Amino acid sequence: MSKFTFIPADKHKAKQTDTSKLGFGKLFTDYMLTARYTQGEGWHDMRIEPYGPFAMDPASMVFHYGQEMFEGLKAYRAADGRTLLFRPLDNFKRMNQSGERMAMAQLDPELMLEGLVELIRREEAWIPIGEGTSLYIRPTMIATDAALGVHASKTYLFFIILSPVGAYYANGFNPIKIYVEDEYVRAVRGGTGFTKCGGNYAASILAGNVAESKGYTQVLWLDGVERKYVEEVGAMNMFFVIDGELVTPPLRGSILPGITRDSVIKLAEHMGYRVTQRLISIQEVYDAHAAGKLDEAFGTGTAAVISPVGELNWDGNIITINDMKNGPIAVALYERLTGIQYGRLDDPFGWVYEVK
Ligand SMILES: *Cc1c(COP(=O)(O)O)cnc(C)c1O
Repeated sequence: MSKFTFIPADKHKAKQTDTSKLGFGKLFTDYMLTARYTQGEGWHDMRIEPYGPFAMDPASMVFHYGQEMFEGLKAYRAADGRTLLFRPLDNFKRMNQSGERMAMAQLDPELMLEGLVELIRREEAWIPIGEGTSLYIRPTMIATDAALGVHASKTYLFFIILSPVGAYYANGFNPIKIYVEDEYVRAVRGGTGFTKCGGNYAASILAGNVAESKGYTQVLWLDGVERKYVEEVGAMNMFFVIDGELVTPPLRGSILPGITRDSVIKLAEHMGYRVTQRLISIQEVYDAHAAGKLDEAFGTGTAAVISPVGELNWDGNIITINDMKNGPIAVALYERLTGIQYGRLDDPFGWVYEVK
């Protein structure tokens, strides 16, 4: 007996079969998973039900005080037809880390993974076929107490929605241009930088708009105190290859502990590269470039997997990295990681979870 009550839909949506038209996060499947939490009672009313709007009280706490957090992972269609997830339990565990900081309800990661697997099984036909495509999975939790006054909600709604997605960047696996933000900051230690709470992203939109108006795809954040050390990009952790060594900022509470970041560290070491987690100032990046030692820079995240960085603009000083071409280490890591995710290459770390 499933712990999730299934409520059938009366009609199903037409699927987009042209994967070049999928885009990212614009289409959603027929079903969603929902679960309710009440303090003292725990999780209840767990369902797989038709995708659709929620009726919500305007006083719901999420609308006023932003008690909200989310996750992002993907289901991949292997060439042999298997449906694969990548380290899915880690996403639910990270959701609990976010939830602890946001004073929200804790999930049972195994139970929610069980629910996700049931949902995916029902929606398998929505997983697009083709390299770079996947079914993006968005678990979310919101505070639903209908009461004004800043305190922790006693009730929550957890849901998972699914979106068939094409390749993340419309222009393919090519270096992106990044604007180094030296006015606005994203997070400070002691704040919510390590969580995937909606507020972090709301606070980043203005800087993103400014960067975009200058022709840059993303913002590179510097530390919130001195605006000196590199933190991360919008939804990606950063790596620099300096003199053959991979350098990435350490997890000190202000950046997101990316699952792709962790996978890249482990894979790169496995492939024989030296990886160091340490503070790296933006000045050091520019100095390495001036000395001819900045071989590559790239971002890592579930959406794009690996994204080479070809240009940085820091306060009007523009540098081009690796002649605006994909670097060999970024390409090798991308091939290896996507090879594991799509079931093409063997998985020495046991990261792949097959949906049966
Ligand atoms: C989600 C996210 C990342 C990447 O995390 P992954 O687990 O690799 O997808 C990095 N930075 C921020 C701010 C994020 O929201």
